Amino acid sequence: MSADKPRDTRAELVSPAGNLQKLKVAVAFGADAVYLSGKSLSLRAQSENFTPEQMAEGIVHAHANAARAFVLLNVFPHNENLEQIREQVSYISKLKPDAFVISDIGAFEIARENAPDVPIHISTQANVTNWRSARFWERLGASRIILARELTLKEIAEIASRTTMQVEIFVHGAMCMAYSGRCFMSKHFVGRDANLGDCAQPCRWAYKIVEETRPHDPLDIEATPKGTLIFSSRDLCMIDHIPEILSSGVNALKIEGRMKTAYYVGIVTRAYRQSLDANYSGYEGDPARVDDLRKTSNRDFTTGFYLGEMRAGLTPAGGARRRSTHSFLGLITATEANMARVEVRARIDRGHTLECVQPDGNDFQFVVDSLLDETTQPLEAALPNQTVLLPGLKAAAFSLLRKEERQL
Ligand code: SF4
Repeated sequence: MSADKPRDTRAELVSPAGNLQKLKVAVAFGADAVYLSGKSLSLRAQSENFTPEQMAEGIVHAHANAARAFVLLNVFPHNENLEQIREQVSYISKLKPDAFVISDIGAFEIARENAPDVPIHISTQANVTNWRSARFWERLGASRIILARELTLKEIAEIASRTTMQVEIFVHGAMCMAYSGRCFMSKHFVGRDANLGDCAQPCRWAYKIVEETRPHDPLDIEATPKGTLIFSSRDLCMIDHIPEILSSGVNALKIEGRMKTAYYVGIVTRAYRQSLDANYSGYEGDPARVDDLRKTSNRDFTTGFYLGEMRAGLTPAGGARRRSTHSFLGLITATEANMARVEVRARIDRGHTLECVQPDGNDFQFVVDSLLDETTQPLEAALPNQTVLLPGLKAAAFSLLRKEERQL
């Protein structure tokens, strides 16, 4: 097996790559590594994921930009899936990924047999919550353990001290109300299996309480006009606790969200990049970057189990649901001949004041004076899925265009 990163190097920031474009955004905004998957065999079957050609391009792009690429094979396979796993392991190993991320011990064995040179990271879906489990995977040859979210930093520190494997934890993103995806709600309601990566997230739906003898009289306890979100967890956010995380011996900080937008990937990656760098350099960092995180989510944040005071794990969002303060309008894919090429995500009108969010942090506002279609014909408005040109806009590739909607 080839060597993984040594444990004594700086902690790695691991960002989600739901498709090739999001991979490039994550790398541009400062990810040390990205995690991605093919069209099957990873949790999150609904994210767009990668064709074999896109995966090859994504891994090459990551490596060309000094980032690493981890490929997920973290479903819980049934017998009928085993041959597919073997084929994927053999094929993907030729693309030189930096690791496979695996949950199932059968899939682990297949990867060891068919791609002994590719390091293996044990997925959070394996639910490792103690150092004996970690050592078990270590003896089998895994090089990194992605711990369960249901742990305190104290427990994480003990596990890290008793294994030679690298330790990775989630620091940001959506949480399950169930034990990290071991949940049957989605299968029950719509036949989509969370443990095969196809969760429809029914925990985010609104519910009413029904007293057993009065089935036609649901209790009206609405916390929002849409109902009571009793199963919907707040999102994890550990941006204020980077020093404690690093002190606990963690080697990699992971951001959840392969189904989220390129905007989310860019903003969240940049905020954690800056916080990590600030921790190592002593520079205090820019509070605006942390504030940016609040502009990406319509749920409030929690520190989950990590600080120990919330053993129940989730704080229901309930009435905490709110709107994001900004709309993501477009992604700059290139700048050429003094024009920015923009993939439009939401309507942009001539005369709009937009903010350009750049990977290096030099954000600026500008007024859209002119909009052109791809044949340079003038437009009054650009619509979603259109590619347009913005004359005079100088910005780095993968910059994000957003518009303020309202303050929190
Ligand atoms: S329904 Fe919610 S809690 Fe259950 S697996 Fe899906 S996201 Fe997790």
